[in-house]
Amino acid sequence: MAHRRLGATADTYAGYRARLVETLRAKGVRDLAVLKAFAETPRHRFVPAALRHRAYEDTALPIGDDQTISQPFTQASYLEALRLTGRERVLEIGTGSGYQTALLAALAAQVFSVERVKTLALAAREALRETGVTNVSVLLGDGTLGWSAYAPYDAILVAAGGPAVPPPLVEQLAAGGRLLMPVGAHGAQTLTLVERLGVEIRQTPLGDARFVPLVGEHGFDG
Ligand code: SAH
Repeated sequence: MAHRRLGATADTYAGYRARLVETLRAKGVRDLAVLKAFAETPRHRFVPAALRHRAYEDTALPIGDDQTISQPFTQASYLEALRLTGRERVLEIGTGSGYQTALLAALAAQVFSVERVKTLALAAREALRETGVTNVSVLLGDGTLGWSAYAPYDAILVAAGGPAVPPPLVEQLAAGGRLLMPVGAHGAQTLTLVERLGVEIRQTPLGDARFVPLVGEHGFDG
């Protein structure tokens, strides 16, 4: 489990953060490690300055470049579904603000995150550095190709919706690994769990999802 330095300014938001954790608990989030990650990760550092006063609402918020930081409850559900124990190497596609990356970093050993929009990748790197998260690497590139240099991954989280699960991601999933991705048409997808069980690849639909498009070689056209 990574240790983080919240810094003195974070205290201003501690009460709001505690309330967000209570909201998540009330909505059914049970995994204590996931709730702890939310309690310790300063979401206000990952939203644009003009929206900081809304940083701890359980809603998605715009982060620029037509992208959004996802709703905390959605992220909590995904993190629960990944069943992380703290020992995993995780691949994230769609760094966005870097907030979910920071949550993953609190729940796993190492996180590799790929973002295709340069301004977002740079801002996320900076926010992660300021927050004191050190077990994360952010790559600027097309995440539908994965990040082969550090494969295989015990867990893969795709934070954008695509027409199908990109084959390179399945190839980079470790034996026993779990991959979560919203699959389907623009704006209306099914959250899909992909498990690699030996040679068998099992795909399970988990529910409706609504994510920004996954744009790339094995995603939608840009
Ligand atoms: N989880 C993020 C929000 C992600 S929004 C957060 O907490 O802020 C989805 C992100 O996926 C966007 O930043 C978008 O630019 C990125 N994205 C879309 N297609 C991609 C691709 N092929 N490779 C990498 N990132 C991609």
